Amino acid sequence: MTEGDSLILGIDLGTTNSLVGVVDSGLPILLADEHGSRITPSAVYFPMSEGAPVVGAAALRQRAVDPARTVTSVKRLIGRRPGEGDWVPPYRLGELGTSAVDVSAQILAHLRGVAERAMETTIRRAVITVPAYFNDAQRAATKRAGEQAGLTVERILSEPTAAALAYGLHRIDERKKVAVYDLGGGTFDLSILEMRDGVFQVLATAGDTELGGDDLDRLLAEWIWAQFDVGGRSGFHELPAVPRARLLEAAEEAKKRLSSSESHTVELPFFEAQRNLHVVITRADLERIARPWAERTRTHCLRALTDAKLAIGDLDEVILVGGSTRIPLVRQVVAEIFGREPNTSQNPDEAVGLGAVIQAGILSGSLRQVLLLDVTPLSLGIETFGGLMNIIIPRNTTLPCKAGEMFTNAVAGQDSMLIRVLQGERELAKDNWELGQVAVPFSPGAKGSARVGVQFSIDANGILQVLARDTVTQVDTVLEIQGTAVDVADERVEQMISESVDFAFEDMNERIWTEAKLKAEELLPAVDAALAQAGDAIGAEDRAQIVGAADRVRKVLADPEHSSRLLKEATQVLDDATQSLAVILVEQAMEASLERRGLL
Ligand code: AMP
Repeated sequence: MTEGDSLILGIDLGTTNSLVGVVDSGLPILLADEHGSRITPSAVYFPMSEGAPVVGAAALRQRAVDPARTVTSVKRLIGRRPGEGDWVPPYRLGELGTSAVDVSAQILAHLRGVAERAMETTIRRAVITVPAYFNDAQRAATKRAGEQAGLTVERILSEPTAAALAYGLHRIDERKKVAVYDLGGGTFDLSILEMRDGVFQVLATAGDTELGGDDLDRLLAEWIWAQFDVGGRSGFHELPAVPRARLLEAAEEAKKRLSSSESHTVELPFFEAQRNLHVVITRADLERIARPWAERTRTHCLRALTDAKLAIGDLDEVILVGGSTRIPLVRQVVAEIFGREPNTSQNPDEAVGLGAVIQAGILSGSLRQVLLLDVTPLSLGIETFGGLMNIIIPRNTTLPCKAGEMFTNAVAGQDSMLIRVLQGERELAKDNWELGQVAVPFSPGAKGSARVGVQFSIDANGILQVLARDTVTQVDTVLEIQGTAVDVADERVEQMISESVDFAFEDMNERIWTEAKLKAEELLPAVDAALAQAGDAIGAEDRAQIVGAADRVRKVLADPEHSSRLLKEATQVLDDATQSLAVILVEQAMEASLERRGLL
């Protein structure tokens, strides 16, 4: 093995599970052990004999057999003095001749081994995450555990900050505020962060160290038992340890399945004497059981907001962390609490680990380049009716990204659409930079009959692909633009942005005028056609009023003043004047239809 001095591990040392990763070839990755698993249970088994402690999944398997010698959830004890806190473990560290720091060191050494095998080098440096509410003693104890595992701890990083890094939020603007909703197996944490001077500050935290997915497993197991034990002979808690453990395991499995399916059947052969347990559970059943449990997070969210002196509307983003946030009902409750959809773009159980890796990569310098390239420096869009810029991907969007919109034809009989791909912040297409253009053919038809979907996607390498699809014929046209979409010199970006600020007023007026003009130009021929169709059905006075209003619109349109206000007023008068005309046309249409069907 060679020594990987520049490598820094990112470690999520969790209550239930831990993860380890590194930045490899510019990309943050989580590493798998020899069994292909990226998740290591935070469990250590101390065998009776002289044998070495066993860490991870193998240790967890011993828990049912030998709970007194299997240490789990040690994070609940770390940095605590004896008697502090109220969680009582089913083991005694003293009797096992160990301490919370020792056990954490065993787990960290195991994770280091996983990484060294995967990277084929020795590694001596790490970033380790801890909950935001950990005090100095708890942080120092975690650091000691790292040192005991042969690691120099370069940084102790708070978990919500790590999650925000994984969600790419370190590139958000100053003063932006983020809520991190972390619901794991045994704990719930809500943290509010604010970006200040390029780093996240934790404004407030709240939570419950006794609220997590495990509680829901118990509630579900009780429900399954009640379905099976129809006579109500005994309570779930009176069951012997082994059937109770089987039920809990089946309940967790059912819960996870129901995050993606609507129904699940729990089958436990020979559950009691000769009876097989067979219970069908639907997502609706689970949601009924889970609702009060999920609602318990609400007060903590509101408390954290109050502590941070913020209103719900002050938050710019809500992100999800922890396996239990995969439950659709939890996402719904989060949306209800915060009045906005949470960001679900990352894998919630890997977000903290990935964030630790990203922080490690930034510290070792191996990520800097990628980070610079990682957002779109300027907005990307296409030219639309009236020469306006229609933004498809706004500036500062994290890569890779994808977005699209539907467009139609402005003129009847048109058989193709020219798509000009633009970059910049100005309102008018002509003031932005053109990156390329492509003609999209479609079958000619009436105005507004074409349906062309335009999709922009930028991959991690900054290659922009523009795909235009005629959704009527399903024919695709593709244009690929290398590099230019993201690779713009800083001075040019600055110039474009300062111009967009300097000309903001003129640009906005021009856009408002163009939009009003498009509306007027659409209305005028429609009014002419309607007048012709209505014929004598419309009174002379009404007709004169409409013709007058239409003339006024034409006059304002032709006026070089380009007054959006006058145009909007004139269009409104025309719109109002045609109300009676619209009624007549509807009546005519009804009569014609009744006549056709022989009812008149
Ligand atoms: P964590 O502490 O983040 O590893 O989260 C572990 C918790 O997430 C456990 O209670 C799991 O049962 C739960 N969990 C993991 N995956 C899912 C899923 N797909 N649906 C519901 N809960 C899940």
